[in-house]
Order: sequence, then structure tokens, then C-alpha cells
Amino acid sequence: MWGTHPESPLPPALARKPGGTGEVSEETASALLLVGEQMEDLAGLEEFLVPLEPPLHKAVPWGEELGALLDESLACIIVDARRSWTVGIETARRLLAHPHARYIPVLFLGARSCGEADLLRGYSLGTVDCILEPLSPDIFRLKVEIYLEQHRRQTLMRRALERAEQAEAAARESERMLSTLLGNVPGMVYRGIPEEPWTLSYASQAARSLSGYTPEDFRERRVAWGELIHPEDSARIRKEMTEALTTRSPFTLTYRIRTRRGEERWVWERGAAILGPDEEVRALEGFIFDITPFRQAQRERERLHEQLEFQHQRLQVILQQLPVAVHIVEAPSGRTLNFNAQAELLMGHPMLPCTCVKEYAQYHAIHPDGRRFAAEEYPLARVLATGKPTPQEELLYDRPDGSVRVFLINAGPIWDARGELHAAVASFMDITALKRAETHQTFLASVSETLAGSLDYEATLSHVVQRAVPALGDGCALDMVEPDGGLRRLAVAHVDPVRREIARELARHHPSRLEDATGPGAVIRTGRTELLAEVTDELLVRYASDARHLELLRGTGVTSSLIVPLHARDRTFGALAFFYCRGGLPRASRSYGPEEQRLAEDLARRAALAVDNARLYREAQRAVRLRDEFLSVASHELKTPLTPLNLKLTSLSREIPRCCAGESPPESLQRHVDMARRQLWKLSTLLNALFDVSRIAQGKLALDVTDTDLSEVLGEVAAWFAPEAARMGSKLWVEGETHVPGRWDRLRLEQVVTNLLSNAIRYGAGRPIHVRAETEGHLARLVVRDEGIGISPEAQERIFGKFERAVSERHYGGLGLGLYITRSIVEAMGGTIRVDSRPGQGSTFTVELPCRQE
Ligand code: ADP
Repeated sequence: MWGTHPESPLPPALARKPGGTGEVSEETASALLLVGEQMEDLAGLEEFLVPLEPPLHKAVPWGEELGALLDESLACIIVDARRSWTVGIETARRLLAHPHARYIPVLFLGARSCGEADLLRGYSLGTVDCILEPLSPDIFRLKVEIYLEQHRRQTLMRRALERAEQAEAAARESERMLSTLLGNVPGMVYRGIPEEPWTLSYASQAARSLSGYTPEDFRERRVAWGELIHPEDSARIRKEMTEALTTRSPFTLTYRIRTRRGEERWVWERGAAILGPDEEVRALEGFIFDITPFRQAQRERERLHEQLEFQHQRLQVILQQLPVAVHIVEAPSGRTLNFNAQAELLMGHPMLPCTCVKEYAQYHAIHPDGRRFAAEEYPLARVLATGKPTPQEELLYDRPDGSVRVFLINAGPIWDARGELHAAVASFMDITALKRAETHQTFLASVSETLAGSLDYEATLSHVVQRAVPALGDGCALDMVEPDGGLRRLAVAHVDPVRREIARELARHHPSRLEDATGPGAVIRTGRTELLAEVTDELLVRYASDARHLELLRGTGVTSSLIVPLHARDRTFGALAFFYCRGGLPRASRSYGPEEQRLAEDLARRAALAVDNARLYREAQRAVRLRDEFLSVASHELKTPLTPLNLKLTSLSREIPRCCAGESPPESLQRHVDMARRQLWKLSTLLNALFDVSRIAQGKLALDVTDTDLSEVLGEVAAWFAPEAARMGSKLWVEGETHVPGRWDRLRLEQVVTNLLSNAIRYGAGRPIHVRAETEGHLARLVVRDEGIGISPEAQERIFGKFERAVSERHYGGLGLGLYITRSIVEAMGGTIRVDSRPGQGSTFTVELPCRQE
């Protein structure tokens, strides 16, 4: 018995402390409880146990405080029942009834007198032993020691058991965790046989969602993984697996499988060979993931990428084929993103590799005065700064080849899906030719207006010369042929005042001559345009007559010249010269060409025509003046013999009866005389009209205003014309008010009524004629209405002009002066005259006169 002797060694497993030192830990030290009726008895017992050095509690029965001492550390309760067995039994019973003491062994110490029945009462309480007097301290100590040893072993065993339970629980937890993890891994975890057809001995639950087969299907070999591999991929997989197994290295595979339902899936596998102690491959372990969505996304990404690439290519092709230039820059940096060949073509240089807006200053846009654009002035820079488009701007571009082009630019922002400025794009085209044509047209139109607006040709031409700068050059000069055959510089214009002076000085001291080989003189002499696209110094040297002349010529800075003749009606009477000069205004071209020549010749033609027209007009004016003077003199001279002729005819008419002395005069004689008188009257009427016309032209139509009655004048003239009207078959109706008084020139008023009435009879087609005089407020109105041939609308305004007629003179006589004189008289009296007529339906002439005039 190893436990009976205090020095007997403990079995290794039990003697080991949890820390593994081999000593029994203090935590396993067992205590004793001594319970008896007398403390001195207990003290005696304690002495027996001193060698054991156990923690010891002593108590006299019975106290409630005993309950607090009952715990697992008690190896034994020693009940001293030597004084009273019954008390001892009772104490033990009570103690053992306590829940903490149920399994604690009890050692009774009894008196010698204890019989068998007493002992049986004791043993019936449970794990009980008894020692009766006489008490052997050694036996007592040995028994206690056994209890102590037993207790210690139990404690150790209990602890070991607890640890085993804990380990088991931990193992269970790990297993649960592993299973949860495997269950939640987004792919299938497997263990399989390292050869085709790759049978699986383990497959996680994900096998189901991945392949449609359950883990059991694989485990129980109803299906092998290799059977699922897509036939097109299986050869590759075999090769890759063989390689991995040969080199014992982990493998990564991507391939397709067919699921139980026949779907195709892409999987990604990562695994490794598991080696046995003999370094042989025992198994394969790894993961297989479904990467179908990923592959699809990848495919989609590739498709989108291809599409993007295609669109990019398409954009590039479109960009390159656009007839306009395009330049796209990144926002906000301003870095160039894209442009087309047209852009480089228009700018005349390769696109600058700008990485920021500041670098735009390297481009060559200029202001009309030649200043270069600042970086931030460029349309693209402004779009980047403001996010606002800059539509339809014109921009001058100074190309490296020296020409200045006009670009029409549209620039605008490109926003991304989040509403942020992504880029800016500018499209531009070269409108130089258009602009030049427009400028030329505007220039021509305005010059034509100037030419048409004045008959003073010298002033007009000077004006044209001023307008030609800068439209057609930096300088312009006009030379005209003088009556003596010399040339006179009529006008000079120049953008540079200093050079204008030089040009004037040249004209003063070295005027062109008709015999010159080149220059304005030669152009006028030959009538042919002279175009010098490039005026070289050599040319100037040849042209100059002396050193001073050459100095002045060089001072003009002329680089190109164009001289066109002013020519009209087979006569060249001047030349217009245009110049481009060094340091002049920025231009698309600094040398004259066919286009400028056409424009200049057009301008010269118009100017020459205007000059010719002005001359013709002046000549016509002079002719009219001479005619009027002649008419005035002629009518006056012709009228002079008419008065005595009239008197003679009157006396002849009176004397005829007397000459025939009672005999009736021959009827024909009287008829001839009457006819002569009528013709004389007609002749004098015509001469009066001519005389009036010249008076009106000279503004000498004097009025003799008196109190006059329009109605009375109308009545008299109508009565006088009644026979004539009757002869023409027209009935004359005089209507209106009896008195229409006013202050007018009576004779002139008679003339007005006479003219209107005679016209009504002449053009009245023998139909009735109505005449009427009436008053309306301060106005007197005279209306003469016929129902004759009428007047076309076109002629209605014209017939009031001098010598204007609306009928052919073969059918109707007349000079076309009646209405002209009538209107002049009416207007001189402050009135108006108008006609209302329709061809074939007659005419109504209405005269309105103020009744009083000052
Ligand atoms: P004329 O002496 O030729 O009649 P007028 O100046 O009196 O000159 O008239 C100008 C023209 O107006 C005439 O030639 C005729 O064509 C037209 N005219 C004038 N009065 C009438 C009218 N009453 N009816 C139609 N035509 C008329």
C-alpha cells in the first residue's frame, strides 16, 4: 500500500503539480477538522498529528460556524466521541448532512465501552472509520495520513479530470469553429487522391453550390472531381498538376467545370500535395472557388475596354477627318489631351506639348494691334477658369510663315457624370479668306455709297483713298492727269503718319510722269494694272532718279505694291496705288496677289465710273440750263410778233364785211381767218407754257394775289370751254357751291382750271365731265372728273413732272407741261394737287387751296 506510509513515494502522475515541478502543490494541501466535546481533548489529538503538519481546524460540537469550515480542502473530519458516542454520532450526522460535507470521510474516536451496535450506528453514516481506546497515536496518525493522501490524490485526479474536460471542450470548440469556417469559406475545401480522376475524400459543404453535387457524392465516389473538368481544359490541367506533383509545389489552376445541371462555371483552385513520412504524395488539399462572376465581370471589363478603345479609335478618325481644327485639354491643368492634324495645319506648327495653362503663352494668337495673347486670354484658358463656353470668337494667329490668319473659335466645357469639369474643347477654322472677302465687300459697299453720294469727284476720290487704308493696304495714293498732261497727286493715306509725309514729299519732288517705265505714270499711259508682289531694294535702286529719291523711296518701307488705272469711256485719267509696308498692320498676307488685284480694279472701275458720272451729270446740268435759257429767250422772242399778228387778224376779221361792201363775204375767207386766230391762240398758249416753264425754273413765278371767287372762275372757264367740249361730244356739268371765295392770283387760277378742263376734254373720250368747286373749312377745293381713258398707276406721279406724258404723242398732242405748270402754280399758292384714276375708267383731279394766303 503506497498511501499508508507518509514517506511512500507518490505515483508520478499524481505527484506532479500543474506547473510540473514534481512537488505536491500547496493548492492540493489537505486540511483536517477536529470536532470534540472538550477543547483539551482536541489539543491532545492535535499533538499526535503534528508530524503531519496539516492545516487543522478544531471545533467543539455543535456550532453553526462549522458549516463555514466544510469545503473541498477537508481531507477528513475527526469526531472525538470518546466522552459520548451518541454526541459524536449526532455531531457526525449533522456535519454530513451539510451539502459540502457529504463526501468527506469521518473518523470516530470512541471509548473502550463502545459496543458493536454503537460502531454499526457510526458506520451507517457513510464513509466512516472508527478507532477505539486505547488510542495508539501512531495508528491514529497513520489513519489520518491515509485520509490526507487519499484526499490529495482525489484532488489531483479531480483537477486532471477538469483539465481533460477543458481540453475536450476546447477540441469541440475548434472542431465547431473549423466546421463553421469551412462552411463559410466562399469556396469548396477538399482533400483528394493525388491522381486522376481526382477523387475527393473530403469536400466541404460549398461543393453543393459550386458543382451541384453534395459532399457525400464526392466522398462516396459517386462522382470524381476530374469528371467535372471541361474537356477543353482537362489536358492543360493534367499537365499543370503533373508538374506541381513532380516538383511538390503548391498549384494554382483556373479552368471550367460542368455542374450537375450542365452549366459551365469558371473555377480557381489553389492546392498543395500532402506528403507522407516517406515523402510520397499522400493526398491533395486545397480550395476551389467559383470565379464565374469574376470572369464575367472580367469579360465585361474587357468588352467595355475594347468598346472604349474602339470609340477612342473612332473619335480619333473622326477628329482627323473633321474639316475644322480641334484641340482638347484636360481640366483643370490645361494639359493637351487630344488634337487633330487640322489644328497643326491651321496654326502652321506642331501642337505645343503644353502641360499647364501658363504654357499657352507660347502659342501665337495676337490682338489686332499685334500684341501677343497672355496665356489666360486664350478661349480654352477662359473655359477652364469659368466653365462657360466662349462661342464664335474671332482670333488672329501669327503663323511662323509670317502670315496672320483669322480663326473662328468655339470653345466649351466637357463635364463628367459627377458634374465636374473634365476637359475643355476648342474647335476652330480658318476664316481668313471669308473675312477678307467680307472686309472687301464691306469696303466696296461703303465706298460705292460714298461714290454715289457726291458729285464732287475730287472730294469723293480723296475719301476713297482714306477708306482704302487699311482695307487694301498700309498706304494708298491717287494720281490724276492734269489738262496739261502732267500728273497731280490728289490724295495720300497711310497708317503711319511719318510715311504719309514721305509719300507726299515724293509726289512733290519726284512726281510720276506719263513717260515713266513703271509706277502710276506707266499705268495711266498703258491703262494696265501694275502688281509688284515683292518690292526689292534692287527695284527701288533702278526706279530712283537720284540718291535723295532713293532715300525717300526706301523711307516708305514698301514691300509690295499694286497700281490700278482709273479708266472710263476710253480714257484713263488717273491711277490708284496701294502699298504694303514694313511694320504695317498684321495681315494674312503681306504681298499683293490676284485677289487684291481684282478688288482694286473693281474699286478703280467704280471710282472711275463715279467720276465719269459726275462729269456727265455736270454736262447734263449745263445742257438743261442752256435749254431753259434758250426756251426762255425763244418763247419771249416768238411771242413778240404774236401780239401784232393777233391784232391784225382781229382787224382783218372786222374789215372783211366792210371790204365786201354789202356783198356777203365768201364763207371760206371768214373760216380761214377764224382758223388762223385759233392756231394763233394755240401757238400763244404753247409759248406761254414754255415761258412759264423757264420762269418756274428760274424761280420767277410771281403771283398777283387778289380776292377771287373760285366758283366764278370755274363758271367762266367752263363756259368758255363749253363749245370745245361739245365738239368732242362731252357734256360739261358744273356743280358745287356758288361762291368759293379766297385770295389767289386770278389769272393763274384760271390757268389751273383751264389746264385741268382742257385735259378732261382731250382725254375724256367724249363722255360727261363733272367740275365742282367747294369750301371745306379753310380750304377751297376744285374737282375735275372725267370718265375717259384714265392714267396707269405707274404714270400718276410722273405726269406732274416737266415734259412728262402718259400717252403717245401721235394720238394726243401736247408738250407734257400743263400739269407741271399747274402743280407749280398750286404749290406756289400753298395748295396741293392729286389725281385718282384707273385706266379706262376716267380720272379725277383734286386741287386744294388755302382760302387765304399771306
Ligand atoms: P399735255 O399737254 O401733254 O396734256 P399735261 O402736263 O397736261 O401735258 O399732261 C401730262 C399727261 O397727263 C398727258 O400727256 C396725259 O397723258 C396725262 N393726262 C393729263 N390729264 C389727263 C386726263 N384727264 N385723263 C387722262 N390722262 C391725262
